[in-house]
Amino acid sequence: MGVYRIEGESGEWEMVVGLEIHAQVVSKAKLFSSAPTEFGAKANTQVALVDAAMPGMLPVINGECVRQAVRTGLALAAEINLHSVFDRKNYFYPDLPPGYQISQYSQPIVGEGKIEINLENGETREIGITRLHLEMDAGKSIHDMRPDATFVDLNRAGVALMEIVSEPDIRSPGEAGAYIRKIRSILRYIGSCDGNMEQGSLRCDANVSVRRPGEEFGTRCEIKNLNSVRFVMKALEYEAIRQVEILEVGGKIDQETRLFDSGKGETRSMRSKEEAHDYRYFPDPDLLPVDLEADWVEELKRELPELPDAKKERFIDVYGLSVEEAGVLVAEKEIAEYFEAVADGRDGKLAANWVTGELFGALNATGLDITASPVSALSLGGLVDRVADKTLSRRIAKEVFEIMFDTGGEADSIIKDRGLKQVTDTGAIEAVVEQVISDNPGKVAEYKGGKDKLMGWFVGQVMKASQGKANPQIANEILSQKLNV
Ligand code: ADP
Ligand code: MG
Repeated sequence: MGVYRIEGESGEWEMVVGLEIHAQVVSKAKLFSSAPTEFGAKANTQVALVDAAMPGMLPVINGECVRQAVRTGLALAAEINLHSVFDRKNYFYPDLPPGYQISQYSQPIVGEGKIEINLENGETREIGITRLHLEMDAGKSIHDMRPDATFVDLNRAGVALMEIVSEPDIRSPGEAGAYIRKIRSILRYIGSCDGNMEQGSLRCDANVSVRRPGEEFGTRCEIKNLNSVRFVMKALEYEAIRQVEILEVGGKIDQETRLFDSGKGETRSMRSKEEAHDYRYFPDPDLLPVDLEADWVEELKRELPELPDAKKERFIDVYGLSVEEAGVLVAEKEIAEYFEAVADGRDGKLAANWVTGELFGALNATGLDITASPVSALSLGGLVDRVADKTLSRRIAKEVFEIMFDTGGEADSIIKDRGLKQVTDTGAIEAVVEQVISDNPGKVAEYKGGKDKLMGWFVGQVMKASQGKANPQIANEILSQKLNV
């Protein structure tokens, strides 16, 4: 595969990346309170007393968040720790009322796992997961409402996050993008996070260092709070080059926390990296350790839905799809479901063609999501049937599809109303062929004189004369018979 290298004056460098993904848990209530978590509510309307750290308030663990974290761990092929502990991570910030974040440090709920990422060239690579822990989110400081004041919205304070930490196994911006997309896809398949990066349900911190290929890891910088795959990739590209330029002139990388300015496409220093001891971690005395029953974990494992990799294998086996087609169709759960409904009882290859071709094209052009598609899976299946039984030529079928997409109509009624049925009656096509031949004696002579390429032109004339309804294969056959005498 194309190895990603950064060219320096004195030779090549390699990028080393580990990602920390913060994924908001799908749950009606927060991690330690019963306050709601819905996005977009009026500021400070979703705050329980404990979220605002009122004196004497105590956190109570939300079992649903624990369940979601365990399911996620299982989906990442990770070790589930039956015993885990919540710690206080102490720091002071206006949007963190208690002065500490409840998180997990030395004993997280999920340990080591791994995922396979799918690269653009069709290859796959395995990336290690170091751990997954549960923690609460902070509130939000709002700096742009008044020039002389900062406001705080605590709606997000206490919302459950899963922090998923990767091993430093990622070697290029492309791999980082593929990793985030795969994690997002898995979380959405099992419904533990909605994966909405625009709303901040999935955010990423990227740790980057550079080294000479094969040598020891270098000093890393951490780029905070990236909220799109594209920004992660751009930030990595910029940051690796920045580090190479420093090292090339004999400089040293300071381990620090940086911010990505998406407008300028640059990273800049935010603060020097804090160490674990700066946070004075200690077990939260208000919470008991979490002890899980092995049987319960087993049950959650059995109940997991089919995951993207397994689905992809099945699509290849059952429907005869190529690796690429299957990869595209399993990336989003909704797309996979739509495709299977179209393919059900039909030619899977043909169904895949229509979904990834016409349907995706039309959805892209209109900016619609597959769940809002004006053509339902059932309706597209109806159209595929008419292609399979040769009622429609490919060209007319595309027209019918466009009408379906615009009007929401069904293939059969559109074919009937507009008289679009393909003509497969040989007698009818023969009559058209004869007409075309007698109208074009010059072309016939040219063809007979050896200009074979004219066959395409003749077929075109027959299609035109039949308003596109003649079956092109039959037209071709009859033309060959008549012209090659
Ligand atoms: P911290 O607790 O200080 O954030 P961790 O050991 O948990 O440090 O690592 C955080 C992330 O940094 C992980 O994703 C890890 O893979 C990554 N990482 C560690 N060392 C390096 C390195 N030298 N270069 C790039 N990434 C690294
Ligand atoms: Mg960290």
